[in-house]
Amino acid sequence: MRKFKTESKKLLDLMINSIYTNREIFLRELVSNASDAIDKLYLKSLTDSSVQVDQANLAINVAFDKDARTITVSDNGIGMTADELEKNLGTIAHSGSEEFKAANAEAQGDAVDIIGRFGVGFYSAFMVAREVSVISRAYGSDECNRWTSDGVEGYTIEPVSADDPAYRSEPGTSVIMALKENAEEANYDEFLSEWKLRELIRRYSNYVRYPVQMLVTKSREKEKPADAGDDYKPEWEDYTELETINSMTPIWKKRGSEVTDEEYAEFYKSTFHDWVDPARTFSLHAEGTLEYDALLFIPGQASFDLYSRDYEKGLELYSSNVLIMEKCADLLPDYYNFVRGVVDSADVSLNISRETLQQTRQLQAMARRIEKKITGELESMRDNDREAYEKFFENFGRGLKYGIYSSYGMKKDELAGLLLFWSAREQKMVTLQEYVAAMADGQKAIYYAAGDDRERLAKMPVVEAVLAKGYDVLLATQDVDEFCFQAMRDFTAKGLPKTYEDDAAREAAEKAVADGAEPEVEDRTVELKNVTSGDLDLASDEEKKEAEEATKANEGLFDAMKDALEGQVEKVAVSTRLAADGAPAVITSEGPLSLEMEKVLAAGPEAGEAPKAVRVLEVNAKHPVFEKLRAAQEAGDAEKVKLYAGLLYNQALLVEGILPEDPVAFATQVCELM
Ligand code: ADP
Ligand code: MG
Repeated sequence: MRKFKTESKKLLDLMINSIYTNREIFLRELVSNASDAIDKLYLKSLTDSSVQVDQANLAINVAFDKDARTITVSDNGIGMTADELEKNLGTIAHSGSEEFKAANAEAQGDAVDIIGRFGVGFYSAFMVAREVSVISRAYGSDECNRWTSDGVEGYTIEPVSADDPAYRSEPGTSVIMALKENAEEANYDEFLSEWKLRELIRRYSNYVRYPVQMLVTKSREKEKPADAGDDYKPEWEDYTELETINSMTPIWKKRGSEVTDEEYAEFYKSTFHDWVDPARTFSLHAEGTLEYDALLFIPGQASFDLYSRDYEKGLELYSSNVLIMEKCADLLPDYYNFVRGVVDSADVSLNISRETLQQTRQLQAMARRIEKKITGELESMRDNDREAYEKFFENFGRGLKYGIYSSYGMKKDELAGLLLFWSAREQKMVTLQEYVAAMADGQKAIYYAAGDDRERLAKMPVVEAVLAKGYDVLLATQDVDEFCFQAMRDFTAKGLPKTYEDDAAREAAEKAVADGAEPEVEDRTVELKNVTSGDLDLASDEEKKEAEEATKANEGLFDAMKDALEGQVEKVAVSTRLAADGAPAVITSEGPLSLEMEKVLAAGPEAGEAPKAVRVLEVNAKHPVFEKLRAAQEAGDAEKVKLYAGLLYNQALLVEGILPEDPVAFATQVCELM
């Protein structure tokens, strides 16, 4: 017996016990080696005309024997001589494939796709096998040899004679694994099943470029005998058939024109276990220092767990058509966590077990490019297929808003253009760009109202007041909306027709356009404002002055009302935003926290410590109710002022969808009045 070198022994031990976290990848490694061996023979045939291979016959075979408890992976590739068995399998971390790649760097081109590189994959067989035999015959040699090892001390190499049943008459290699005994912590018998092997081939080696075949058992109806009577019952029989298990051609390596939409949809549904066609399919083929292909999908529906904590984002990562990671999270930003797809690169640096990636820089470069691609795709969908986009936004828009909020607005340039909100004036979903483009002359802000019910928002006096001014209001009904708006603060609309300060400039510009110049455009940054926030800046200076004076004149009344409300409001004042026939009063807020945000926070996990909005009771001085208040104050009826203040405050809260703090007291007040 030849002994493994000491360092090899240590490595082997490490390999089997700690490099791999997942026992089942042994099959991936052996199938990859078989594919490499076939690739090498194929390349030889391309460069050496004396080498003849029948391409149609090139294949990998996986077989199992339940009684003998063996699994065999064979190929009709280039094979190994006794020397090569010694060199490639006797020395751990020696990769004949890596050497081959280097030696054939020029000739290789697109024709081959060698997977091996670390010289350790083979030994993963010892995670499941107590003994591995490799029977190999090199191309162009008539010798056949057997390498055998228990993966502990060493190995033997001996010739296989022509009368040995294991003798190979054709070049190629068979790797025979005698499985370990079942133990409490591991059931090795599970690999002795057609179903399990098929599943593993499909999962890890589905896109290996040569057929991976298995003799499978099927059942069929026996032919009906000619003399069968009326009471004939159909009989069934089992038969075996060689079946190709993998689908081979990686669909992501093909150009879009070679693949039909149905094929993409089929691939998407079977790979990502969805039953609905993807809303969008797009691909990316990067060339240069880091080459990779990506095939990406925007699902047609949100997966049921998308918004749960357990949801794992990520793209499937392949290296040379072999699956490395099922969910590579680093390839997707959180706000695009719904995107599904595959990325394949022969260039990414993998660690020795191929289970993790080493170069985060490569990964970051890929992730950036992928993110851009997704954004571009969504923009094109928004501009060219609005109906589909609205559906998309219904499914995934929340995540985009959350992306802006959780990045403290840093992602706003990337994402704000993708958002849609309900326009109270247009009665449909609009983008912020569309909102700004349709703004009235003199309008200074994008106005929104936040709350959970669109109908209720539309009827809020503050909303009606802004609409009455001729300004549109966005009705934002998701709890993340206002947090998103606050993180954004403003929105920059791009490429709007330029507005001119003075007439001379405008006339000059108009003349230029008449003479054939392109009309000038400009970007416009507009603040986002909640209609219930204190300083809406809607009123004219005159109106403001008037309200201020009225507030001053009624100081005594307002102080009494504030006292009556016992700290629930910061201030009572005359409103500038309510029309004479409008509501008698509204609650607004000062500072960054709105009533709606207060509500969302109060429903959240930190409800107890949730901050409160600074409330202001704005009174409509033109409303008849105000006269009653003043009369009560003048009559010195403190009880009545208190009653009215409470009623006015609580009904204004109700209109905004907030329950009075003390509903019973409110009900009593109403009754008292009646
Ligand atoms: P790697 O594939 O990363 O090179 P492995 O440990 O999987 O490392 O295999 C070691 C080497 O053994 C390979 O590089 C190759 O030269 C050789 N080898 C393994 N399996 C086969 C096979 N089925 N046919 C021919 N050569 C093989
Ligand atoms: Mg290998």
